[in-house]
Amino acid sequence: MTQEPKRTIYIDGQWRAAADGASFVVTDPATGEVIGQAADGGRADTEAAIAAADRALPAWSGTTAYQRAAVLAKADALMRERRKELAALMTREQGKPLKASMNEVAYAADFLAWFAEEAKRIGGVTIPSARADQRFVTMRQPVGVVAAITPWNYPISMLTRKLAPAIAAGCTSVLKPADQTPLCAVATVQLLADAGLPDGVVNLVTTTRAAEVGDVLLESPVVRKLTFTGSTAVGKMLAAKAGATLKRVSVELGGHAPFIVFPDADPVRAAKGAALVKFLNTGQACISPNRIYVHRSIYDAFVATLDQRIAALRVGKGDHEGVSIGPLIDERAVGKMEAQVHDARAKGARVVAGGERMQVDGLDGTTFYAPTLLADVTPDMLISTEETFGPIAAVTPFDDEDEVVAKANDTEYGLAAYVYTNDLSTAIRVTEKLRFGMVGVNDINPTSAAAPFGGVKASGLGREGGFEGIDEYLDTKLVGISI
Ligand code: NAD
Repeated sequence: MTQEPKRTIYIDGQWRAAADGASFVVTDPATGEVIGQAADGGRADTEAAIAAADRALPAWSGTTAYQRAAVLAKADALMRERRKELAALMTREQGKPLKASMNEVAYAADFLAWFAEEAKRIGGVTIPSARADQRFVTMRQPVGVVAAITPWNYPISMLTRKLAPAIAAGCTSVLKPADQTPLCAVATVQLLADAGLPDGVVNLVTTTRAAEVGDVLLESPVVRKLTFTGSTAVGKMLAAKAGATLKRVSVELGGHAPFIVFPDADPVRAAKGAALVKFLNTGQACISPNRIYVHRSIYDAFVATLDQRIAALRVGKGDHEGVSIGPLIDERAVGKMEAQVHDARAKGARVVAGGERMQVDGLDGTTFYAPTLLADVTPDMLISTEETFGPIAAVTPFDDEDEVVAKANDTEYGLAAYVYTNDLSTAIRVTEKLRFGMVGVNDINPTSAAAPFGGVKASGLGREGGFEGIDEYLDTKLVGISI
């Protein structure tokens, strides 16, 4: 059966098919069922999108902060109004439980609301000069055309986290979403258009040809900034390419979060926290704890509670009542779980819970993996160094603070870390020593539109959200005035 190529490319306010007519199917990861089609954009579409963004830039950067704020505020209201339908689409396309999708849509809207306000706080400074006849002032101006490349795991909030500050700053953008979740991108861009965003300010190229589209975006001298969220391998490669035209770069990459539970902490509370953050989004989150270190004196109590919490998790299709764990994004991700568990088992880890593929709701079991608890994990195991991105909790006992801090920092990554302790001195001392961009102290969700999100080392460059988020989209212009 042939179907019309879908019009999911958005350029200059027009929904279009790919220039060469190519399209691809979009599937439900829980069932493999085709849920839609998207245009498969290539070089010509990307060039047209960049040209549209470039044409729209003078007018958009010339609007007042109040005009840009009004569009973002309207988009925020629309996103909250459409929360249910956006969440249903997200669950179908990405697989996460409906409640998690509802939470993500609210989080996505938070960025629209936050940057609507931040637009009005873009300001410069005056600087004293050594010369009596001179004055200095600074202006903060939009960097220009932005290329935004986004992942599938948070298919709406990762878009607004980039597009909202770009819009607020007066930039124009070309968005390339992940090929697993183009329909969430279409719904988000349509919402921005409905909120009154002028044509050309945000353009969208849906595609499976990531390298081709990426190269056009990165080679273009018109594009002045790359903002990327995804894997470290791709992020490094794109940042290197962006160097040829000296684009501004912010990249939010992979993580390998340590979760440290000190002997004075309540092991039950810590294990409940670990279960919540570990299995969030079926473990497909960059802030997911990958290495859980628990003091030997409370290790057994912690493992027992985590095991109980895992037993209470219900795995299934995201739109089924009571489901807390959805499918993984694809078969390859399940293969990665199998490889990490096989390796850990062979090297002496104990499989306390799970450890295998699952068949649920009569589905064929190609994307479901049982929530898994591995105990007695050691540093030589694959899971101790490779990002898991799935529902496996890996627990290791430790004996002293210096040892655990050294282990926690022994990773190329540096995104999130977690510390459980009731001792204030331990909390501050350890937090200061952890080489990570975000630390949760007795807290599993150190994220908010109002707080700077980002990592160090191989976890990335730059910050999203918070006061810092808009800086990534602004250049500083110094003006020296002789009077
Ligand atoms: P990925 O790197 O495979 O893909 C991310 C995006 O890059 C997608 O849009 C993809 O199509 C695109 N891409 C891939 N190859 C490209 C190329 N050659 N040129 C241009 N674009 C290309 O990552 P993923 O599997 O979609 O996402 C999971 C990763 O994202 C994990 O490592 C996770 O930790 C990370 N992540 C990080 C954050 C953060 O804020 N730090 C947030 C969410 C996810």
